[in-house]
Amino acid sequence: TSVITVPVPLGDRAYDILVGRGLIEVAGPRIAALGARAAAIVTDEHVGPLYAQALSQSLQANGLRSSVITLPPGEATKSYTSLERVCDAVLEAKIERGDLVVALGGGVIGDLAGFVAAIVRRGVRFVQVPTTLLSQVDSSVGGKTGINSRHGKNLVGAFHQPSLVLADTALLDTLPVREMRAGYAEVVKYGLIDDARFFAWCEANWHGIFNGDLERDEAVAQSCRSKAAVVVRDEHETGDRALLNLGHTFGHALERITRYDSARLVHGEGVAIGLNLAFRFSAALGLCAISDAERIEAHLAVVGLPTRLSHVPGGCGTVDELLDAMAQDKKVKGGSLTFILAKGIGQSFIAPGIEAEKVRAFLTGEI
Ligand code: NAD
Ligand code: ZN
Repeated sequence: TSVITVPVPLGDRAYDILVGRGLIEVAGPRIAALGARAAAIVTDEHVGPLYAQALSQSLQANGLRSSVITLPPGEATKSYTSLERVCDAVLEAKIERGDLVVALGGGVIGDLAGFVAAIVRRGVRFVQVPTTLLSQVDSSVGGKTGINSRHGKNLVGAFHQPSLVLADTALLDTLPVREMRAGYAEVVKYGLIDDARFFAWCEANWHGIFNGDLERDEAVAQSCRSKAAVVVRDEHETGDRALLNLGHTFGHALERITRYDSARLVHGEGVAIGLNLAFRFSAALGLCAISDAERIEAHLAVVGLPTRLSHVPGGCGTVDELLDAMAQDKKVKGGSLTFILAKGIGQSFIAPGIEAEKVRAFLTGEI
């Protein structure tokens, strides 16, 4: 296995992200090196049967007592009910302060298990073994953990950095292609934020990423470098970290309108449409060339991602409904919204105080 190491230099909580094919087979020594005696593996019913045994055996072979907690797959698992279940299972497994919670799954499992690790015994260490492209390039990096409340997504949680992230790119071979594409929207996002060369590289190499060639490892590692750099600059999202929301103001609104029904729209699909809209909105405001928006849309479309409001199955509602959904986003203050806009590919910036009326004019085609 060739392993790419991406350091996350967060002072006394610094950790490494390791990226490579087949990493799960050598996970035992890497995790054992953290010095714990026991590990509670948290996974879901899709991922567990595929990979939990290999991971668990690798841990045991390296002297760690391990147990597995398996939850139903899907967003509904980021709930108070699962939180209670996993906390109790972790205590049942006699996980002490020096021990570990290991998240083996996508962002749902990572967010839930990370939050459990943040609060059980007032905090135990945790390791992320992300199994979706989205979790490898996004949710496993940066320390945001949490669950959903009836008041909205991710409203109950904590910042809790992992001690290690193991991104085994071979695990993505079993990921449904729709989930692969959705994660890819976030990969493209990093290029669009501040790395035009990476975007151009993606345009040339996306085939290798989807096929599981070496380009996949390179794309995951480069995305982690981008996210880690932002997180190190602004761990608790008081400033710069908001750049990561490029495409997300529109994207979140679409997820809300489709009621988080993954049969209609998954997060990354909303982001893909949102990225195209963010650049078209930027062009409409005279900030960037329309040809940049067209180039982005062409690339998202070639990998099979939706790019337009009309691509949302079941429709995306009226302009008013869209604006309402955006107004519910946490990025709204008064009558104006904070958008991430761009002067071009790789030249995004935080634009506070965008009036809702400007967004309306864009959505109705007046500008
Ligand atoms: P997910 O965890 O629901 O996984 C998607 C589907 O793929 C699930 O059905 C899962 O069982 C299945 N799956 C996972 N790995 C597989 C594999 N290797 N082979 C076959 N099937 C596999 O979804 P996701 O997109 O990974 O994560 C979405 C979640 O991440 C959301 O809850 C979102 O809020 C969260 N998120 C968090 C952050 C953060 O910073 N913490 C950032 C972005 C997103
Ligand atoms: Zn996202």
